[in-house]
Amino acid sequence: MKRWVSWGLGLVSAAIIVYVLIGVDIRPREQYVEEPFVEDTITVPMPPPMAFGVSMEGMILREGRVKAGASFGGLLSAEGISASVIEALVSKAQGLFDVRKLRAGHPYAFIVPDADGSAPHYFIYEADPIQYVVFHLLAGNEYVTLGERPSVFTQQAIAATVTGALYNDLARAGADPVLAVLLSEVFAWTVDFYRIRKGDVFSVVYAEQSVEGKRVGTPRILAARYVSGDKVKAAFRFGEGKEATYFDDEGNSLRKAFLKAPLKFSRISSGFSGKRLHPVQKVMKAHLGTDYAAPYGTPILAVGDGVVEQAGRTGGNGNFVKIRHNGVYSTQYLHMQKILVKQGQRVQQGDVIGEVGSTGLATGPHVCFRFWKNGTQVDHRKEEFPSAEPIAATDRPAFTSLRDSLGTHLDEAELVLAQGRMANF
Ligand SMILES: [Zn+2]
Repeated sequence: MKRWVSWGLGLVSAAIIVYVLIGVDIRPREQYVEEPFVEDTITVPMPPPMAFGVSMEGMILREGRVKAGASFGGLLSAEGISASVIEALVSKAQGLFDVRKLRAGHPYAFIVPDADGSAPHYFIYEADPIQYVVFHLLAGNEYVTLGERPSVFTQQAIAATVTGALYNDLARAGADPVLAVLLSEVFAWTVDFYRIRKGDVFSVVYAEQSVEGKRVGTPRILAARYVSGDKVKAAFRFGEGKEATYFDDEGNSLRKAFLKAPLKFSRISSGFSGKRLHPVQKVMKAHLGTDYAAPYGTPILAVGDGVVEQAGRTGGNGNFVKIRHNGVYSTQYLHMQKILVKQGQRVQQGDVIGEVGSTGLATGPHVCFRFWKNGTQVDHRKEEFPSAEPIAATDRPAFTSLRDSLGTHLDEAELVLAQGRMANF
């Protein structure tokens, strides 16, 4: 709703410009003027145009995007900047920005005197939608500074009725559709996203950052509620930074912790990595799992509650089991000597699902443990799994007041949705 503020500001400034341009002619003539006209006092002295904190007086901006394979030195020398200036800038940039990290597709700009054949005075690289780096290119006075576009955080509340894919329903309601993915993570343990039905309602309060009216980054869900028939699930974000996690109305964590490893006693014999020498195939390959070495026959445990999605054998995996824990997370256990569960079987955290072996492409007895998040294999040891503990007694009062105020916003969003439905009826 706060988006209206920036729209409003835009309208107001447009109105001022129109008023200043045509106001003189349409205003009725007045005989007595006790105070100067407002428009006289705000005859705005045009500020010198600025770009990236640099005065554009007599300058022009030449913009581009970094091409694949382009380098800092290459971009500058193509503009006639000398090797010694480039070298000076590289060393001045140290600690501020790594010039080797120009990324393809990112915008850059040169600020060039508006005269034929002049070399640029500044090079600006946009590291992200907010941060940019300014390189001053004049020999003998080379310097590097960081700048930021002003950004604003706004809090919004929105509710959407499920009609098909939640992604589309949220987009139609005017929200960033990435909220669908975030909601599936917030509610991963409490809502089965394979079972949401038409007519179910999601409401969400979220914060988003914007620069010059454009959303940047990923929104953050502050509170959410899912209503399906008489079933209601709520989530409230509480805590600081990485410690922040989601709790239900009563302050219980929405998370259920996974076991850290699928074996009780083991050692990691090979970690998750983008590239490693495959021990059997002797070629460089990504290793999208974590290997836990243990003697043959060691019990393998389900790291969380779930349903056995696959239990079978392939050439590479050997005997393996894959468990779906919820709409977001699945885990897979490879190279088993023996599988002890069947497809479709429901398992509890800590249940023994198989025994350590070396079936498939394996050099010795171990479990290759694979952790899937939204269909992609990730390193479970690098995932942030905040505490699954309930709200601490000392935090109760703060949590309760946060829950009540965010809850009011959820109510309002649901009300707006319901009224819209009435109006369309
Ligand atoms: Zn492995």
